[in-house]
Amino acid sequence: MELLFSPLFSGSSGNCTYVGSRDAGVIVDCGVSATSALSQLNEAHISPGAVKAVLVTHEHTDHIGGAGVLARKLSVPLYATQGTWEGGLGKRAGKLDPSQIRVISPFEDFFVGDMNVMAFPTPHDCLEPCGFGFTLGSLRAAVATDIGYVNSKWLDAVEGADLVLLEADYDEDMLLAGSYPYDLKMRIRGRRGHLSNEDAGRAAAHLVSKGTRQIILGHLSKNNNFPELAEETCEGILFEHGIRAGRDVGLSVAKRDSLTGVFRIAEN
Ligand SMILES: [Zn+2]
Ligand SMILES: [Zn+2]
Repeated sequence: MELLFSPLFSGSSGNCTYVGSRDAGVIVDCGVSATSALSQLNEAHISPGAVKAVLVTHEHTDHIGGAGVLARKLSVPLYATQGTWEGGLGKRAGKLDPSQIRVISPFEDFFVGDMNVMAFPTPHDCLEPCGFGFTLGSLRAAVATDIGYVNSKWLDAVEGADLVLLEADYDEDMLLAGSYPYDLKMRIRGRRGHLSNEDAGRAAAHLVSKGTRQIILGHLSKNNNFPELAEETCEGILFEHGIRAGRDVGLSVAKRDSLTGVFRIAEN
């Protein structure tokens, strides 16, 4: 058995990830146009027919922009929490067949094909945000982005995943020295904002100690971060914990504007 995990877009300007087997899986978030999502899926050599559902983490535009159109194009259900539907997805998604509208609750798992999916709550500035954990056979992956701070609620849910897409939104110094208004800086740094590179490094060290084999840093800010810095910071914190990136864990950074690649998780 093999679990594919393919970040198609990742960053504050649009997020979209495929998770599943070659034949059946889900798209998590679609903050880009449906056409762009499908074009990068094609780059990944994954058939659009493999997408059996679209899942949304929360109602911010960089996660829902093309979600409704994509669900309509593929005639698949769109899953989100009640809060996400009410907070803006319902309006933004446009007209959907009632059968396509699926309301999910954190910690209540469901299946898409053979893959088990479980949403977990995340601290973020919207109505009912969540991340997602995926289990296919004994293989596990998770999407953990748009998270204000590291807490056990989400970290426990992600713990044990073989692969984690983990937010590393900003570099603390770049954010503080940058041109954003004070209130926005505080929002980003706040407990309902985003994870910094340092936060991601600490969370990664914990996850690796619990068995995670691949970390993909994602959702990088365009203005307050860059890939080399996110990777170096995380690598440094892992090193402080006796973990060598490349030896003990795979460490990558997801691309903002195009396919990062197809990560394949297989049983050992
Ligand atoms: Zn976001
Ligand atoms: Zn957000």
